[in-house]
Amino acid sequence: MTAALFADIPRELIERFDQATSDAVGLPPPAGGQRQAAAHYAASLRALGGRPEEPVALYVHLPFCPVRCLYCACHTTVTHDGTKIDRYLDTLERELDLVTERLGRGRALAQLHLGGGTPNYLTDCQLIRLMEMLAHHFRIGTDTATNIECNPRRTSAGQLDLLKGLGFKGVSFGIQDLDARVQHAIGRVNSVSLVRDVCATARDIGFDCINLDLIYGLPNQTPQGFASTLDRVIEISPDRVRLFSYAHHPTTRPHQYAIDAASLPGPAEKLALLHGAVHTFTESGYSWIGVDSFVRNGDELADAQAAGTLRHTCIGYTCGPARHLLACGTSSLGEVDGVYVQNEPNADAWRKAIEAGRLPILWGHRLSDDDQRRHQAIQHLLCNLEVPLNLLAGLAADYERLVRCAEHGLVEVGTDRIKVTPRGRYFLRGLCTQTEPSLGWSNNHWGVPQLR
Ligand code: SF4
Repeated sequence: MTAALFADIPRELIERFDQATSDAVGLPPPAGGQRQAAAHYAASLRALGGRPEEPVALYVHLPFCPVRCLYCACHTTVTHDGTKIDRYLDTLERELDLVTERLGRGRALAQLHLGGGTPNYLTDCQLIRLMEMLAHHFRIGTDTATNIECNPRRTSAGQLDLLKGLGFKGVSFGIQDLDARVQHAIGRVNSVSLVRDVCATARDIGFDCINLDLIYGLPNQTPQGFASTLDRVIEISPDRVRLFSYAHHPTTRPHQYAIDAASLPGPAEKLALLHGAVHTFTESGYSWIGVDSFVRNGDELADAQAAGTLRHTCIGYTCGPARHLLACGTSSLGEVDGVYVQNEPNADAWRKAIEAGRLPILWGHRLSDDDQRRHQAIQHLLCNLEVPLNLLAGLAADYERLVRCAEHGLVEVGTDRIKVTPRGRYFLRGLCTQTEPSLGWSNNHWGVPQLR
C-alpha cells in the first residue's frame, strides 16, 4: 500500500520534503532589531487593549526538566534546584505585569496553554502560585480552554487532581514511542502500564481531553515496533494524538550526538511509518487533522476541519475563537495583529530585559500585505488542504512552486483553487515550508524573521 502510494515519487523529493518538514521552529534570529520588534509588539498590545471584545489566547513557557531526552528540540534547562524555578516565576510575574500594563489587566482568556520544558515538573506550590499569578493578570473562566503538557513519569493522581482543581481541562502526555528499544535509544522510558494507568487516572479525575504526543523517525523505530506502539495507543484510547516528525540536528542540539545516526530510519522509511500511523488511526475511529493530529471522530477539531473553520497556531490546531496569541516565558512565540514575536530563549537575557522594564523580545516581524496573503495561503493548506487561487494573486513564484508539485501528484490545480491530493497530504508540511528564500516562504509557518 505504501509502496503503491509513493511508487513514482523520486527519492530526492522525499528527502527534500523530509528536511523541510523536520523543523518548524528554531530559526536563527536576525541581527539587531530587538527594540524595534518590542515597540511594534507593545503598540499591537495597546491597540488590542482598546478592542476588549476580541478573544485572546496565552501560551506560557516553563523551561525546566529533570533530565534531557536525547531527541529534545525544545528550549529547556535541566535542573534539580527548585529555587531556580521560583526565581523564574518571579520574573514571569514581572513579564505578565509588562504585558498587561499595555494590554490592560483582567482580559478574558479564550485559551491558556502551559508548555515547556516539563510544566508538571513544578511542585504543587509552584503550580498554584503560577495559576494565581495568571488569574491576577487575566480572567480565566469556565469558558477558557486550559491545557497543560505533562511528562507521565512525573505525575501522580494527586498532581492530576490538583491540576483539575486549578481549572485545567486538557492534559497532554509526551509518550513518543512505547517500544523499549526506541525508549532506551532516546533516553525517555515510560512503560505501557504506566501510560495506561496515568491516562485512566486522568480520565477518572474528569479531564475533558487527553492527548498523547508521539514521534516518528526515532532511532530503532521499525514498522513492526511502531505498529505495536500504535496498537497500544489505540487500546489506551486517548481523545487526541499528535504525531511529530523527528528532526536530527546534532550540530545545533549537541545532546542528539548521543543518538546513533545509523539507527535512524531514512526519509522513505519515515514516510512508511507515517503512512502506517495514518492507516491505523483512521481505521480505529480517528480523523486525521491537517498535518500531524488525529482526533476521535466527532471531536470539535474534526468538525471544524469539515466546516473549513480549523486554524493552525504556534500551539497547534484549534477551532477556538482567539485570533491573537500572547506568549510569556523564555523562547515563547506570540502573534498579535499580524506582529509575530519570539521571546529571548536565553534565561539571563530574558530576565535582564524584564528587569529593565522591557518586553523580552528576541525578534519580531510585522506581516506585509504579501506576507498576509502567504500566511493565509499556508493556513488554508494546513487546515483545509487547498488554497484559493485568489490568495496567490501577486505571489507568482509561490504559485509556480505549488503548481510544479502537481507533476508528482502532490496537488491538483483547478480553475479556482489548488487542492492537496491524498498523496500530497503526506508532504503537507513540506508543501507549506519548503524553503525558497527568493519566494519568502520561510522555513516556518508563521513568518519571516525580519522587521519591516
Ligand atoms: S521532557 Fe520535553 S522539553 Fe524536557 S528534555 Fe524531554 S523532550 Fe525536552
